[in-house]
Amino acid sequence: MTPLRPVPAPVTVGILGGGQLGRMLALAGVPLGIRCLVLEPAAHAPAGAAAEVLPAPYDDRGALEELARRCSVVTIEVEHVPVESLAWLADRLPVHPSPEVVAVGQDRLAEKRRLARLGIPTAPWADAGELEHGFPAGTILKLSTGGFDGRGQARLEPSASGAEVAAALEALGGSAVAEEVVAFDRELSIVAARSPVGEMAVYPVVENRHADGILRESIAPAPGLSPSLQDEAVRLVVDLMDELGHVGVMALELFEVDGALLANELAPRVHNSGHWTIEGAVTSQFEQHLRAICGLPLGDTGIRGPAAMMNVIGTEAEPGDVLAVPGAHLHRYGKEPRPHRKIGHITVVGADERQRVERLATVRAVVGRAEVRPASSP
Ligand code: AMP
Repeated sequence: MTPLRPVPAPVTVGILGGGQLGRMLALAGVPLGIRCLVLEPAAHAPAGAAAEVLPAPYDDRGALEELARRCSVVTIEVEHVPVESLAWLADRLPVHPSPEVVAVGQDRLAEKRRLARLGIPTAPWADAGELEHGFPAGTILKLSTGGFDGRGQARLEPSASGAEVAAALEALGGSAVAEEVVAFDRELSIVAARSPVGEMAVYPVVENRHADGILRESIAPAPGLSPSLQDEAVRLVVDLMDELGHVGVMALELFEVDGALLANELAPRVHNSGHWTIEGAVTSQFEQHLRAICGLPLGDTGIRGPAAMMNVIGTEAEPGDVLAVPGAHLHRYGKEPRPHRKIGHITVVGADERQRVERLATVRAVVGRAEVRPASSP
């Protein structure tokens, strides 16, 4: 008879940020016996439904000491946390993603420089402060730090003058990256994970449909994507994670343009375009992230069926109406409804592509949402 092995002690994962991503991470930890301790400055943290919350600012020394004392590893659910707090924690326990990687993800200029150094193609870009005039196809200014979901951005007409660029930059009120407007065919993203020993797991590329700079729908896998672009996306995200020595989940947002890929943005964390994996993949991105940062084997990233995810933004439909749609899964974040605010999401998984399309169309009708066209670029 094999001798009984000692039962491993329960692991506690610290999370900086207690929003919906923290909530879904904490939920994924429950079956694995992983507890989450969340540091969140705002009142009413959505993660509070599934995790213990330390209600304190991200730089509160007492709260950071408690995380260091009680956790085996610390992670983030939002990039915009003070790197100094992560560095302080990293001197005491493993922090994934590392403060260095978070710093790259926080700063669009640093991110663009890093992508350029790795030879990962992007839209033409420049430091907006050094731009003498706008790009021929139009210019998007994006605040280097702090902007998200389309906020902190300004669009300029083709070949805007230097004075127009300067005025728009002044109005944004901070350093910014200037990008040429890309006439993309569609937006894609790839979510992947890397473990501390360099094991990789990659989900299929998904198609993302935005409106007003906010993600509305993700379709998984991206319909009609050529195998060569799927392979190319895998290569890009794997190179990126390897180069950065990243541990955990990472998402890379991409534009498909004339049969090629351009990188738009990276996120060193679980990502909205990976929410479909909860029901649509064998292992969800949330479980995958916990596996990766806890040094556990990574899970199968295969799909259970063609899936689609729709964000619930601003207002909610009657939950019973959504749940009456066959195959629909509803995730409510426990957030106050507010215009432009992500307050939940709905996932459908079909037995085949036709059923996925039908189910998504039914959900759109129930929620009262028109279909978002695949490309919202000019
Ligand atoms: P971002 O905050 O960088 O993810 O940008 C928000 C959205 O703006 C993207 O999802 C695209 O729909 C659009 N966008 C961003 N950069 C560009 C670009 N260079 N050309 C065209 N559209 C863009």
